[in-house]
Amino acid sequence: MRVRFLGAAQTVTGSMHLLEAPRATVLLDCGLFQGPRRETFDRNRNLPFDPRTLDAVVLSHAHIDHSGALPMLPSRGFHGTIFCTPATRDLCAVMLEDAAMVQEADARFLNKQIERGLLHGDPIEPLYGDNDVINMLETMIAVPYHRWFEVAHGVRARFLDAGHVLGSAIVELDVRDGATTKRVVFSGDVGRRSMPILRDPEIPERADLLLMESTYGDRVHPARQEMDAALADVVRRTVERGGKVIVPTFALERAQEIILSLKSLTLSGAIPTVPVIVDSPLAVKITEVFRMHPDCYDEELHRRLRADGSPFDFDSLRYVASPDESKRISADRSPMVILAGSGMCESGRVLHHLRVAVEETENTVVIVGFQAPHTLGRRLVEKRTKVRIFGVERDRRCDVVVLNGFSAHAGQDELVGLVRGMREKGGVGRIALVHGEPGPQRVLSQKLAAIGQEDILAPERGDALEL
Ligand SMILES: [Zn+2]
Repeated sequence: MRVRFLGAAQTVTGSMHLLEAPRATVLLDCGLFQGPRRETFDRNRNLPFDPRTLDAVVLSHAHIDHSGALPMLPSRGFHGTIFCTPATRDLCAVMLEDAAMVQEADARFLNKQIERGLLHGDPIEPLYGDNDVINMLETMIAVPYHRWFEVAHGVRARFLDAGHVLGSAIVELDVRDGATTKRVVFSGDVGRRSMPILRDPEIPERADLLLMESTYGDRVHPARQEMDAALADVVRRTVERGGKVIVPTFALERAQEIILSLKSLTLSGAIPTVPVIVDSPLAVKITEVFRMHPDCYDEELHRRLRADGSPFDFDSLRYVASPDESKRISADRSPMVILAGSGMCESGRVLHHLRVAVEETENTVVIVGFQAPHTLGRRLVEKRTKVRIFGVERDRRCDVVVLNGFSAHAGQDELVGLVRGMREKGGVGRIALVHGEPGPQRVLSQKLAAIGQEDILAPERGDALEL
């Protein structure tokens, strides 16, 4: 048997790995690569495998860089089944519908630029539309955590809690090869311990091959508890000088966690009561999916539910769906906190808010998630003095604060902890580091070697590993 690394190899987006078992071919994740628009389109359009040859897909979680290419499969001859957890399926229904809309908007934007002669090349077709998403959903089967299920001939799998986003899973796969069975574990994205809302990541028993994410392989995150204080500090400071706080946020998980934080900070008086705006039709829909899945909550959230009612509502919080209201809010200069997507500031309503806010010194942009290279979000993290928004170069005078502790990804210590835990239980044969940039992967490899782990690789895109 063989594993081919087709995406998120020495980079963090486009998660996609092909398991070529003796009697079946199974794809692990089918994500979109995210980066500069044009390169992204070309790369995502050309799938690095033939969907007709796939028996099944096992999806770790609903983030677009893991699930976003799935709707391309049915129209390209895929006749298998996509397996994921129930919450992941529900999230995919809303997130991929939204992704189809973003595809169409992106294609329109690029085609306009091509028409005006600002870009060269052939006109661009969206990668998929609504119908493709619906066809894909018809091939999805949801399986709860902790149950072994048959994926394809000679391959069975089980989902464990990954603690990363609602429904996220670490996937254990048993692959039969003649008389022997090999255990492959795919970490998906690993979450953090003691985060609000979700249960902690579980430690799998053992693996002959562990495909492990390495996004923050070089960094230890501040404790989550310190983050509430840091967020309170930024909000207080900004409101005192009459500014707005803009939080570009992924609509999934981060948004709900920040809503939860702002709720407790407001209720406890740690921040002044100012309007908290969730300006994202997607975040509104996703929050609904969260309400439907108390089966994924941790004990702390169940406790808070009993004490303060719905975790995702409070008096000064407003969910905004209509574009007109969104425009009124960007024009309004009074102090407030705005959560809007996209998380890396590449598209979505956050761009309208940033366009108005970046040039004013009283405002603050709070970065709470990973920002891929070449995105506007990364440029803000780098505190560049000039940033381009909607094709216009603007002076960045607003403050930028990075709060890494809100990350939904395990830090270095937590990744090492996962491997240590597995070594104590049943052992880890080889490790293939995926979903990380080369720098963090090097540092993490050294840390893993220091606890005695051997056979650590960081495959490049296209590499194959025989097992
Ligand atoms: Zn993720």
